[in-house]
Amino acid sequence: MENLLTISSLNKTYFSKKKDVEVLKNISLSIKDNEIVSLLGPSGCGKSTLLNIISSLDKDYEGQVDCTSKLGYMFQNDTLLEYLNIFDNITLGLKIKKIKTKENIDYALSLCKKYGLEKFLYLYPASLSGGMRQRVSLIRTLVLKPSLLLLDEPFSRLDAQTRLLIQEDVYQIIKKEGISALIVTHDIEEAIAMSNRILFMSSLPSSITKELQIPFHNSPLKRRKEKEFSSLFSSSFNELKNASK
Ligand code: ADP
Ligand code: MG
Repeated sequence: MENLLTISSLNKTYFSKKKDVEVLKNISLSIKDNEIVSLLGPSGCGKSTLLNIISSLDKDYEGQVDCTSKLGYMFQNDTLLEYLNIFDNITLGLKIKKIKTKENIDYALSLCKKYGLEKFLYLYPASLSGGMRQRVSLIRTLVLKPSLLLLDEPFSRLDAQTRLLIQEDVYQIIKKEGISALIVTHDIEEAIAMSNRILFMSSLPSSITKELQIPFHNSPLKRRKEKEFSSLFSSSFNELKNASK
């Protein structure tokens, strides 16, 4: 299978006059077609730093980052613009990239129809629930036809109930669209429920301490009912605890 992303021996230090902070140490990982991988680590261990490097926002590092795929992003904050209606938010990326063609608008509309946003198109973000706003934010990304989605703690601002539903929603959409995803999170259950593989990160300077293959192929809500879910939770909890010492 083709690798969409390959990172080899990545090191990252933030340099400043006061103090240098060594954040990432010897990180290597790869993501294949149709894979959902979670990076699970404590707050402040460098997860967002790593995503910034993958997305070329940060070019100041040592090592190799080879990304052949078109990237899409989904963040903690849905970053919808309050003064634009849902349709204009969804097609904003097309406008910025100057590719708001009839064909692309039709594709955006077909995604809205497929994922139940049709009746919201002329409403403004303020009138939508947190979960629905995240769905809009995901569809806005999909309009640009990414092959690898980068998700930076996308559900951490939502209440517990909404979080479960939107995890299910996002998982189903990722699978239906046949794309891959790298999810960074500090939520153990989320990592088990959503991914094929978990990479554990230690506290600073952060390295990958373990890789765990998740034996489930069903959706997040179903996985939570599996017998093995709680033993995977316990071993992940212990791994994180040891890696954070
Ligand atoms: P996470 O996303 O896992 O919570 P971050 O990648 O945001 O972690 O941050 C990792 C570490 O790097 C933290 O200790 C943070 O204080 C530090 N850091 C992040 N950005 C900068 C920066 N621009 N300059 C210096 N230190 C930074
Ligand atoms: Mg972060």
